[in-house]
Amino acid sequence: MQLTSFRVKPTTAVDLDAVPTRSTDGFSGDKAAGRARTAELALRIAELQRMLFAGATERLLLVLQAPDAGGKDAIIAALLSGVNPQGTRVANFKQPSDEELAHDYLWRVHRHAPAKGEIAVFNRSHYEDVLVVAVHDLVPERIWSRRYEHINGFEKMLADEGTTIIKLFLHLSPEEQAVRFQERIDDPTKHWKFRRGDLDERARWTDYRVAFEAMLARTSTEWAPWYIIPADRTWYRNLVAAEIVVSTLESLGLRYPDPEPGLEGLKIR
Ligand code: AMP
Ligand code: MG
Repeated sequence: MQLTSFRVKPTTAVDLDAVPTRSTDGFSGDKAAGRARTAELALRIAELQRMLFAGATERLLLVLQAPDAGGKDAIIAALLSGVNPQGTRVANFKQPSDEELAHDYLWRVHRHAPAKGEIAVFNRSHYEDVLVVAVHDLVPERIWSRRYEHINGFEKMLADEGTTIIKLFLHLSPEEQAVRFQERIDDPTKHWKFRRGDLDERARWTDYRVAFEAMLARTSTEWAPWYIIPADRTWYRNLVAAEIVVSTLESLGLRYPDPEPGLEGLKIR
């Protein structure tokens, strides 16, 4: 699969209406084949994570942003099903607490960045501070408009200090969101995922699209690229996300650490 086609080139305008949400580009198989391939890739992620953890030098940060029902939780479940929980952390960023609001917006985020040997996943992130915050005017534009630059600087610092960053935007159509919301309303096992307020956010679809486009255009960098993943088909969405994570981990040249000197051939008894 040609992953660069999903990658947003730095400082390029993004028109989300021109990007497909339902495509299966780059994969010739059907849904069953796609799922099987994703399961294989999840095993590979688990294997790579064991080396990452053992080596304890590299760090991976995976940032997920999407409209509601875009599939952030499902991607985490699909990709991390096999990994050792000790080397993985998932941070969920919800409405900030009073204490968090009393600080700068990166304060709550930074401490969840991965340590050496860890994979950290941000389920929502500091990007909410240029998304929901911009859409709802939670702070004045003159404040949030400066944040793209801060965020690029923050991520550059993390990258310079040895963190590999990938950011996935799950590109969902409003039609598919309606289908998923309806399921959440109708299926008792999914009620918990739906809040009435989700409809207020949905009503602001265009404002969110503008905010997502600005985010993608202004914060996709060499050191922390955004990938736009077509998200209307869940199996294809998971597959592309898994391919991106595997190819990124493979690019790190991970291997198990060498034995201590003198260990070779040592017999315990
Ligand atoms: P969910 O992910 O469905 O549990 O929803 C979490 C909610 O928290 C979403 O509506 C987000 O937009 C909101 N949220 C996350 N970060 C922020 C933030 N920095 N400021 C305001 N709302 C936020
Ligand atoms: Mg929600």
